Amino acid sequence: GKGLAVLTSGGDSQGMNAAVRAVVRMGIYLGCKVYFIREGYQGMVDGGDNIQDANWASVSSIIHRGGTVIGSARCADFRKREGRLKAAYNLVNRGITNLVVIGGDGSLTGANLFRLEWSSLLDELAQNGKITPEQKQKYGVLHIAGMVGSIDNDFCGTDMTIGTDSALHRIIEAIDAIVSTAYSHQRTFIMEVMGRHCGYLALVAGLCSEADYIFIPESPPKADWPQRLTQQMSQERSAGQRLNIIIVAEGAIDRDGKPITAEDVKKVVVEKLQQDTRITVLGHVQRGGNPSAFDRVLGCRMGAEAVLALMEATPDSVPCVVSLDGNQAIRVPLMECVERTKAVAQAMAEKNWELAVKLRGTS
Ligand code: ATP
Repeated sequence: GKGLAVLTSGGDSQGMNAAVRAVVRMGIYLGCKVYFIREGYQGMVDGGDNIQDANWASVSSIIHRGGTVIGSARCADFRKREGRLKAAYNLVNRGITNLVVIGGDGSLTGANLFRLEWSSLLDELAQNGKITPEQKQKYGVLHIAGMVGSIDNDFCGTDMTIGTDSALHRIIEAIDAIVSTAYSHQRTFIMEVMGRHCGYLALVAGLCSEADYIFIPESPPKADWPQRLTQQMSQERSAGQRLNIIIVAEGAIDRDGKPITAEDVKKVVVEKLQQDTRITVLGHVQRGGNPSAFDRVLGCRMGAEAVLALMEATPDSVPCVVSLDGNQAIRVPLMECVERTKAVAQAMAEKNWELAVKLRGTS
């Protein structure tokens, strides 16, 4: 059977295990020889025990677990050709020419580069006598398929990334817990949620919790935000509301690109309204815990589709990332999505918020 390997790279997210499980089982079902690569690209570069045989049972009892059981990492070596040469050797040596990468846009960029370089890497390995001419011939094309695991929902081309829904569940649970105590004491609560470049979590959490004010990177407020914030809050209180909730995405900024932190917001509320104000930074709690039903199903469907895409790939086919479009798992051109995701970051760096929102599209 064809050699197929799966790895997780970059930040972990809930639902990655469901995706790994689906890749392994669909691969076995279609007659592949399946491998796990542990610790992301680092495991592929280092080889040895990091690349392990996977069987049907080795992915039992992982679908409900958060994070990724095969480990994830950031890997400086893989950014260099020398590291990728080692990785290519480790794959060819095991007959692996199909690779599923679950990660963010950085990880997918790396996978694409690896695929483009593959034949030149094999040439070099053959010249150095590390692989035989037969191996070079037989394993001459690397097929890749991507899936995006990220709690931030920060990838263009998919409605939802794997992990976002679970992170929202964590955030909502935390806000609900805090609301009951805030209500008793007439407090103001400021919640900082994840999202360095993408305010999706803050926006949806704000909607679900009736937040009074939300700060997100895509829609930086004008310089007079302190006045508008306090005015809004005073109005709510005079209308009888006993508590205020403000959500701040970790990447929130003002129109000059200067960060707006939970501390900045607290200072305004305390100084101008003299309200008892508390900050909660959710941090890694958002990545923690068990994946939601949605993320488990998403991981399952995307994992299965990724393997089908690989099995149907030809040397000329454009590598895909599996994405969610409505309720369908579909294949979209990997690099197009990566480039658009990078263009969003670029537009935001240039303070062109309208363009950023337009480029991001559905997500
Ligand atoms: P997250 O959204 O969680 O940050 P990511 O996949 O974007 O996920 P990165 O840290 O950008 O996270 O990338 C993960 C790994 O992918 C890097 O440590 C590196 O090994 C590899 N990688 C990223 N960009 C490249 C690149 N341009 N060339 C080669 N490898 C890369």
